[in-house]
Amino acid sequence: MVHHHELERKLKALFGEDNVLCEPEDLLVYECDAETLDTALPDLVVLPGSTAEVQAVVRAAAEHGVPVTPRGAGTGLSGGATTVSGGISLVMTRMSRILQIDPLDSIAIVEVGATNLSVSHAALTHGLYFAPDPSSQVASTIGGNIAENAGGPHCLKYGMTTSHVLGLKMVLPDGNIARLGGRTRSQIGLDLLGVVVGSEGTLGIVTEAVLRLIPRAQAVETMLAYFPSVEACGQAVSDIVAEGIIPAAMEMIDKLTLNAVEDYLHMGLNRDAAALLIVELDGPEIEISVHRKIVEQVVAANKSIGLTWATDDAHRARIWKARKASFGALGRIRPNGYVLDGVIPRSKLATAITRINQIGEKHKLIVANVYHAGDGNLHPCVLYHRDNLEEVHRVVTAGREILELCVELGGTLSGEHGIGVEKILAMSLVFTEADLKAMRWLKNSFDPRGLTNPSKVLPTPKSCGESGGRPLSQHQLMTSC
Ligand SMILES: Cc1cc2nc3c(=O)[nH]c(=O)nc-3n(C[C@H](O)[C@H](O)[C@H](O)COP(=O)(O)OP(=O)(O)OC[C@H]3O[C@@H](n4cnc5c(N)ncnc54)[C@H](O)[C@@H]3O)c2cc1C
Repeated sequence: MVHHHELERKLKALFGEDNVLCEPEDLLVYECDAETLDTALPDLVVLPGSTAEVQAVVRAAAEHGVPVTPRGAGTGLSGGATTVSGGISLVMTRMSRILQIDPLDSIAIVEVGATNLSVSHAALTHGLYFAPDPSSQVASTIGGNIAENAGGPHCLKYGMTTSHVLGLKMVLPDGNIARLGGRTRSQIGLDLLGVVVGSEGTLGIVTEAVLRLIPRAQAVETMLAYFPSVEACGQAVSDIVAEGIIPAAMEMIDKLTLNAVEDYLHMGLNRDAAALLIVELDGPEIEISVHRKIVEQVVAANKSIGLTWATDDAHRARIWKARKASFGALGRIRPNGYVLDGVIPRSKLATAITRINQIGEKHKLIVANVYHAGDGNLHPCVLYHRDNLEEVHRVVTAGREILELCVELGGTLSGEHGIGVEKILAMSLVFTEADLKAMRWLKNSFDPRGLTNPSKVLPTPKSCGESGGRPLSQHQLMTSC
């Protein structure tokens, strides 16, 4: 921790004592996000209440040459909000107002500290909702969703966050305000909106967003099915898509996760199953009734050992609870979990699952598997004790091998959690030096002084073995890159 006394005095004068934190016990809360392998204390935490206040922080920090790292709810899973180079953690959660719901244009205008779910709640009275639904949606903010281009179970059919953002207001690293996009889909000029969504807070601080809302579907059908093997379950997923059906969601959990959920919630899940699959169909009633029959046939053809369809909304919510409680339930097995996010072609699902389990066995680690199966996005969760350094080393090595496997199978490093600091050393698995140089040019043109969320996403020569100013356990443990 470095003391920036003059900056601290200036910010406290502007925002009051309550919104500028510098006591060690306060800073500790912000030392990492939900990726707890990498930790680094910020020097100051500032909670702005308006775009003008964000501008004031960015300008004051620039004057003092201090980095600024934006932060939403801190549910990120790649260390994106971790202040690896120290400086200010700029926490956006006070800016949580829903400024407007316009049912005629089907848009919401919000401050980016609003939680994902609060937007859909606000739109509910108009029969509309915000489609991206990360499992963290109760807590995660629209700003974090935009920065990570977040997905969620229903993004299989409706697309990731980028398909639902029409406009942004952002504070640039020099303190000026840029307005990108607008209230309608616009293709005028360079597509900076497309650049900023998914840029992981490295190009500026987003303060407001215009979001596309969509109407609730006429009918929804939700199925839970059990399979005797993960291979059979994976095959059913491929076969459903091969039938020309794009379900709203197709989610899968393995036996270990299923049993952890059952131990936790006592829902009456079938503990004998090797895999559980949730398929949700939505759309016009007539279409859904046809698709329901096809899904049932495919599931039966893949030797399902039981299936049930939700009979009402309460039953549907119970089915979804089995999936949404997965990561929490795994905490009963080990206190820490390292959640990976690799993507593979859907057709390689069964191979990937077998080989991930082999990696777990090789390193004597417990690996639970949760998948957005429909789009080949894997979430292997390696369970461990954070205080056991030798075990942490094996976790990091296994994580790297899982990423290498995804790339080998024709996939990539991340489906929705981003690169952050966690996967920075793996970027060279998928990008050439020329690719990375082009990305660095873009970053430099927004942020020539490198003060906005530094040491994230793009590896620099110094990333080999370290990650910016503060030592990170994961990177210290990687002996080669
Ligand atoms: C239990 C659990 C389940 C999850 N499920 C999903 C899932 O289904 N799908 C999914 O995609 N993710 C999921 N995640 C990951 C995480 O919730 C998402 O990445 C989410 O979008 C992060 O939002 P946040 O507000 O917590 O952002 P943070 O974690 O606070 O920040 C994430 C990144 O956004 C940047 N950022 C935040 N606010 C701004 C801003 N205003 N301007 C510019 N940059 C900003 C930060 O610098 C950082 O790089 C899950 C996480 C957990 C813990």
